Amino acid sequence: MTDVHVVGAGPAGSIAAMAATRQGHRVVVSEQHADAGSHATCSGLFSAEGLRSLSDFIDYRKLVVNRIKGADIHFADEVLSVRTKEPVAYVCDRHAFDAKLAENAESAGAKVVYNETVKGVFRADCVIGADGPGSFVARHFHFPPMGRYVCTMKAVMEYDVAAKTDRSIITMHLSQKRFPGFFGWMIPHANDLAEFGVGVALPGPAGAAWDHLLGMYGVRKPRRVASDIIPVEPRRRTSMQSGKLKVLLAGDAAGQVKATTGGGVIFGGNCAALAGKHAHSPRGYELEWRARFGPDLFLHRKLRDHLDSLQDHQLAGLARHLKRLRLDSYLSRHGSMDRPTRMIKPQMLSHVARALIGLE
Ligand SMILES: Cc1cc2nc3c(=O)[nH]c(=O)nc-3n(C[C@H](O)[C@H](O)[C@H](O)COP(=O)(O)OP(=O)(O)OC[C@H]3O[C@@H](n4cnc5c(N)ncnc54)[C@H](O)[C@@H]3O)c2cc1C
Repeated sequence: MTDVHVVGAGPAGSIAAMAATRQGHRVVVSEQHADAGSHATCSGLFSAEGLRSLSDFIDYRKLVVNRIKGADIHFADEVLSVRTKEPVAYVCDRHAFDAKLAENAESAGAKVVYNETVKGVFRADCVIGADGPGSFVARHFHFPPMGRYVCTMKAVMEYDVAAKTDRSIITMHLSQKRFPGFFGWMIPHANDLAEFGVGVALPGPAGAAWDHLLGMYGVRKPRRVASDIIPVEPRRRTSMQSGKLKVLLAGDAAGQVKATTGGGVIFGGNCAALAGKHAHSPRGYELEWRARFGPDLFLHRKLRDHLDSLQDHQLAGLARHLKRLRLDSYLSRHGSMDRPTRMIKPQMLSHVARALIGLE
């Protein structure tokens, strides 16, 4: 007998499975691939605070590839630099991350079945669709579609990171002309290894953005490039109940992703924990994840909308303005990669006031 059928053994599926077993449910996870994580195309960059929020599900410390202490954010040709004393984020081996989560789900008592593609036959009346951005579960149960996606291309390549920056600093390139609707990035993995990537709003010129980024860094086209999509707005509804049948969507399947950066593991993982907890109460799930994470996801979308509305000269002007207000130093001290609502506090007003009169 199975109480909860989780579709997908990505981070959301494994976390939902763990949370559901902790409620005493018998849980089966179906994963279409032969293992967890080897097909993930993610950069594996997670905020330190976000990883702490998932510490009940995974100990990330052995999975860290690189420690991040800041970012150079290029607003067209104007750079805003944020630096922190302690690591603010970690680059993790995403394959190992997913594999560890699936292993933890099994240790918690869930049964993970690999090489099982769910095509319409479910093992329980309670289904958690954690099957990624192209969610079969969402389509099968006629959930409202997601309206916005970003298309990405990326590759990890040998690169002399030290010649350009240092290995603890990531670089982001915002430009409506070059990377419309998203950005280009370089994430160091080591002194001589980095991930390069681009995203553009769908439908968009991903190939041209990719060529441009490689040209900027003077690196040759790699043989293998991973391409994928990221949803950047949640579905209007992520759960349903019809008689005994209960269906909950979590992670990318629900669109629980930061629209600014495309990061989905932390929000999706936290929401998946709620899906597991409320597996038999779809309404409770819908209310709790929206109350806890909706405002931050909303702010990320508003920031994305604003950035998308600016031409390159306006982006550069915005960066100059932020620097005049010394917001780079405010972000270095009080920045939050995930929870913008936490940055809006009285110190922010006093910081801006001090910057305006020249005290910051
Ligand atoms: C280029 C790129 C870079 C990214 N970088 C980051 C980053 O640095 N940090 C971050 O937080 N996020 C990042 N993301 C986003 C992140 O990868 C996703 O948000 C995250 O993987 C979502 O987890 P999930 O478990 O919801 O879905 P997924 O990771 O997509 O897992 C879904 C699982 O379901 C399985 N599945 C699908 N359909 C079926 C089916 N019918 N039957 C059985 N199994 C099925 C799939 O095989 C897969 O294992 C990035 C995404 C991309 C594309």
